[in-house]
Amino acid sequence: MTDHPTPPNYPDPPGPLDPPDRRVCGDRAHLPTRLVLLALRLAPSREGQREDVQRELRCVMEEAHAGAHHGFAMELDGVDTGSVWTRWLAGEEPGDVVVLADCNAARADGMDACGEFAGHPGAHSWELDDPWRATRA
Ligand SMILES: [Zn+2]
Ligand SMILES: [Zn+2]
Repeated sequence: MTDHPTPPNYPDPPGPLDPPDRRVCGDRAHLPTRLVLLALRLAPSREGQREDVQRELRCVMEEAHAGAHHGFAMELDGVDTGSVWTRWLAGEEPGDVVVLADCNAARADGMDACGEFAGHPGAHSWELDDPWRATRA
């Protein structure tokens, strides 16, 4: 006969603190030809190649963001040159292309860099569940 001490009345351990799923917006858009040509004109140095411009775009921002969707259209050569982006409103065609600085955030382990633009709202791209993870050269 063992005298078991009464177990202390611990509260239930908290469950694993799953961060809420953070998903990429992923809204799709097609870049019209006139904006492809405009994007190429934004390339600062050598002539851009039409194939360099991505035409099937999707918004890389965190879902449920405010404002326009943002899709990455073209990388620009050089350091700190930013990238060409296009923006559109839900259900509308992209209306312009703009050069936006790159988000300079990178994971602490150096494994990933953010694929969004500087000053973007929401999470950095590596924090988002992104089934189509954009590949950037
Ligand atoms: Zn979006
Ligand atoms: Zn970022």
